[in-house]
Amino acid sequence: MTKRTKILATVGPASDSIEMIEGLIKAGANMFRLNFSHGDHEYHSQTLKNIRTAMKNLNTTVGILQDISGPKVRIGDIKEPFELHRGDVITFLKEDILGYKESNKSYVVSINYPELLDKVKEGEYIYLYDGTIRAKVIETGIEIKAKVENHGILNSRKGVNFPNTIIDIDVITKKDEKDIKWGVENKVDYFAISFVQNKKDMQNARKLLGDYKGKLIAKIEKFDAVENIDEILEVSDGLMVARGDLGIEVPYYEVPTIQKSLIKKANMACKPVITATQMLLSMTQNERATRAEISDVANAVLDGTDVVMLSEESAVGEDPINVVDTMSNIIQKTEEIYNFAKHEKFEYLDQFDVIQSTVTKLADDINAKGILALTSSGQSAIRMSRYRPHTKILTFTHKKKVLNSLTAVWGIYPIGTIKESQTTKMFQKMLKELDARDMLDKEGPYVATIGYPVGMPGSTNTIKILTKNEIEYYLNLDTKK
Ligand code: PGA
Ligand code: MN
Repeated sequence: MTKRTKILATVGPASDSIEMIEGLIKAGANMFRLNFSHGDHEYHSQTLKNIRTAMKNLNTTVGILQDISGPKVRIGDIKEPFELHRGDVITFLKEDILGYKESNKSYVVSINYPELLDKVKEGEYIYLYDGTIRAKVIETGIEIKAKVENHGILNSRKGVNFPNTIIDIDVITKKDEKDIKWGVENKVDYFAISFVQNKKDMQNARKLLGDYKGKLIAKIEKFDAVENIDEILEVSDGLMVARGDLGIEVPYYEVPTIQKSLIKKANMACKPVITATQMLLSMTQNERATRAEISDVANAVLDGTDVVMLSEESAVGEDPINVVDTMSNIIQKTEEIYNFAKHEKFEYLDQFDVIQSTVTKLADDINAKGILALTSSGQSAIRMSRYRPHTKILTFTHKKKVLNSLTAVWGIYPIGTIKESQTTKMFQKMLKELDARDMLDKEGPYVATIGYPVGMPGSTNTIKILTKNEIEYYLNLDTKK
């Protein structure tokens, strides 16, 4: 399957068996998301075990992303659902009460982060129930009063958003700390941090990893995160355009332009970016996606996203394998018109970039069957990906951990690990490994890049073209010598 844009599938009750996970991988899933907004550690441990078994059974590498739930602001329980109309007034109390209807047009509720009520100002908006109910703040003080502007029904514990208020809360909750500890102990590859506001939030998350070299993805789903994107990107290993919550936090018509701008910035910085939420949502129930959803996936691919994500579609949907298969088909067709070879688009970050740029250009120019990239830190393969070569980046690393951390990167095929220090043996092992996987075209050519001496990060300094004769030579070379 030639598919350069990656698929991240959320695992849930509809897809958590070994058999289903294997099916999803075969259909094109490159990474799995464990959503810590649902399920306990026992559930996720079992799911993780199943993913690793599937990986072993299929002799392949997929990434694990742990999505940390973060501080989801909600109203408290209410006695009975409120049917709200334009002009009704909701009073938000700081103490924890059971919400109730006070009179004909007035309602009283509490929220789980009462300290936020001190930060709202008159004239700002409070959104309820995933943005479906909009209320304007008309009075602040010991209690907050807000006037409802549209019709809607409100139930217990529905989400609350403050799209105009910098709430500046700790985005890593006590629960999140325990969950991150679980992720470190279970060696997940990526941690996604929700409701990030600024770089401090990501730095706090990084501290919790200690010595563990997991990759940190900032979920951009708050209006202040959009404003602070440059500093956030600088301290993150990647981004997620979390369009679900983002679409409530910013005016809905800004979501596509923000998506394009975040993808561009992440591409520029050489960091993977995930486009998430509602990509094929109707397939949760239906066999076929809508035309608009199909176009949405295709357009995210053309925008330059590294990864497209599935949420409910694969976690609780009717037919997760069909959904991944649909996404794969859209990606593969769309990549036929992809704007490859973006060498002119980027300034070199450093001298190292010149080598990666040359390698990808060379590979495309000679119509190579693949780039054999042996990388210690993963950086040289990530740098190659930035230029979006037409040629597949067949990647080898010295450590398994590094290979896993490349699963989110566009165009990288994580093949295997190699522990050799002699250049001849490195070429030989890479070719043999591909041959064993039935992935080698013996006609060639291939472009191989290695760093020598081994293990010196940033030392990728050898470029070799492997033509038919050389491929034959290396494959027949006596391995014992
Ligand atoms: P969530 O994040 O699914 O954890 O809310 C993604 C989003 O908000 O789009
Ligand atoms: Mn979200």
